Amino acid sequence: MADLTDHQLDRYARHIVLRDIGGAGQARLLASHALLIGAGGIGSPAIQYLAAAGVRTISVVDDDAISLSNLQRQVLYSETQIGEAKVDAAAEAVHRLNPDVAFHAIRGRIDHATSSDILNGVDVVIDGSDNFATRLIVNDLCLSAKVPLVSAAIGQFHGQIGTFTGWQPDSPCYRCFVGDAHDPDDCDDCATQGVLGAMCGLMGSFAAMEAIRVLTGFGENQKGKLHIFDGMTPSMRSIKLPKDPACRSCGTLSS
Ligand SMILES: [Zn+2]
Repeated sequence: MADLTDHQLDRYARHIVLRDIGGAGQARLLASHALLIGAGGIGSPAIQYLAAAGVRTISVVDDDAISLSNLQRQVLYSETQIGEAKVDAAAEAVHRLNPDVAFHAIRGRIDHATSSDILNGVDVVIDGSDNFATRLIVNDLCLSAKVPLVSAAIGQFHGQIGTFTGWQPDSPCYRCFVGDAHDPDDCDDCATQGVLGAMCGLMGSFAAMEAIRVLTGFGENQKGKLHIFDGMTPSMRSIKLPKDPACRSCGTLSS
């Protein structure tokens, strides 16, 4: 690959040797922009693997500061960083990991009014946020910008991952999957339910893999598929989600 330096050929050698990634796939990663919603349990490992993979630009939206109770699962952070903004600590970690990666910290929350241009130039979004209201906004932003969405969620000993490209006629969006009942900012929060820290590692890494699949095209296309991991057994099942013709976000029957 003409575009890769000797340093990059060495750094990414284990990707380049993979037939389904190769020099072309690595070059695509080095030219890609990933946006992560949330720098918590899912975001921590996802950010680490995307940075290690050489994704050119990583943007992260998060409004939270690091607290002691985060450290059981948010492995990007340490006790000395308690009180720091997660996006600032994540920026430091990414710079240490791979100085070639440009990190764009966005301290705040996603909303319809202020976030309309946040997907400019973005190639894939990973949503690891902790509430349905945010997830549905992210879904709508991805739909209107036609950016693939990898949505990852986790609770207790369970996790799920889906890739959504709902602007395509045969492909569901996130709202097709969860429906309208979750618009209010109610939520599934792990403060009350608890979550096994290592499950975050598993699902955050899974989300990074799916984002890399979107960016490089390796393996089977996963659009519209939901993977549900049960850590108790452990086992995973995968289902194909239908597109909802009446979906308020992407359905042909809605206006
Ligand atoms: Zn939909």
